[in-house]
Amino acid sequence: MSEKRIMVIGGGPAGLEASRGIVELGYELVLVEHLEELGGSPISADYAALTPDMEDTGVAMARMVDAVVGNENADIRLSSSIASVEGSAPNFRVTVESGGESEVVEVGSIIVATGFKHFDPGRETQRYGYYEFDDVITLIDAERMLKGGGFVRPSTGEPPKTVCFIQCVGSRDRQIGNQWCSKVCCGVATKEAIEIKHLLPECRVIVFYIDMRVYGFWEDQLYWKAQEEHHVNFIRGIISEVTKRGDTVVVKGEDTTMGRPMEVPMDVVILSVGMEPSDGTLAMAEMLGLPLECHGWIETIDGALNTVQTPVDGVFVAGAAAGPADLEDSISMGGAAALKACSFVRRTSLPTI
Ligand SMILES: Cc1cc2nc3c(=O)[nH]c(=O)nc-3n(C[C@H](O)[C@H](O)[C@H](O)COP(=O)(O)OP(=O)(O)OC[C@H]3O[C@@H](n4cnc5c(N)ncnc54)[C@H](O)[C@@H]3O)c2cc1C
Ligand code: SF4
Repeated sequence: MSEKRIMVIGGGPAGLEASRGIVELGYELVLVEHLEELGGSPISADYAALTPDMEDTGVAMARMVDAVVGNENADIRLSSSIASVEGSAPNFRVTVESGGESEVVEVGSIIVATGFKHFDPGRETQRYGYYEFDDVITLIDAERMLKGGGFVRPSTGEPPKTVCFIQCVGSRDRQIGNQWCSKVCCGVATKEAIEIKHLLPECRVIVFYIDMRVYGFWEDQLYWKAQEEHHVNFIRGIISEVTKRGDTVVVKGEDTTMGRPMEVPMDVVILSVGMEPSDGTLAMAEMLGLPLECHGWIETIDGALNTVQTPVDGVFVAGAAAGPADLEDSISMGGAAALKACSFVRRTSLPTI
């Protein structure tokens, strides 16, 4: 095929699906990932199992990786970074640095799939004691423990008798400037609650929520299942502070259904931290001249009607680089971006009559 190559930046779920689309359509791919392994956040942050079927994350992501690695059209650069981008579509000259060497790679189109980062609950506005108390952890810390096959109270190494989740940490919060809902944390907290109850049936597990946002099939596959089969308690409330009394962490706030203050001692508190644009996403936006939408993620040109096209000709975005996204969103966007990038390089390489 004589058309130009397409570059995908970021080898997470969105970038892998975009890559698969490109090679399956017979186009040449250059995939640049700055970590030494493909798979994105589910692999680098050690997620245990994925919603809604609880499939082992390593097994699920290996299927995505295997669909690209080994394809004769795929040139995969791991532990690599983008140093600069010159030119414009369909003649981009991208300098890729790997192992101390740099190479200029010519491509006709670029897909940015550089994802998100987890909100840091140590910010000064947060009163949840993440860096003070061993028994206050995040969804990601909990994933790591669950991946290891157990769940313990970090300060003692013993199984906890009480565990709670605090929802919307770093999301839906005007004070810190993160007004968005991070979309996945209600579902992920519910999934982890089920996994904890599965390991520790006697443990009391509570989810403190502002309102539960589980979308589509996650409603009955996760949320109802957690309540009906695993007896997870969901309490509508706003948690203002986590403190310590003796050896126990104490969650303080307001039960907004009953309209009364509450103070609950807990063995383990899990903060449902949200998503923010990753450093790589912001760096690529700046390098490629991509405008950010009002919340700070990469902007697309026509909202819901065109979720992957940026205002810069020949540059597309996929997955959580464009806003909070679950796997379904990210993978769908990856496929759509592949199709648009292939169509772009084909159109721009046709001879003009
Ligand atoms: C705790 C937790 C659990 C979750 N569990 C689920 C679940 O069970 N089900 C579900 O649907 N969703 C889940 N999600 C959401 C899921 O993680 C995201 O939907 C998904 O990872 C987004 O994929 P992505 O490829 O857009 O981004 P990412 O997964 O963030 O991948 C981006 C990739 O780009 C790379 N990169 C970044 N910058 C650069 C750069 N400059 N150059 C080269 N490479 C770069 C990164 O290293 C990474 O490999 C969970 C989220 C969290 C926080
Ligand atoms: S998904 Fe749930 S926990 Fe996450 S920000 Fe939205 S409402 Fe809050």
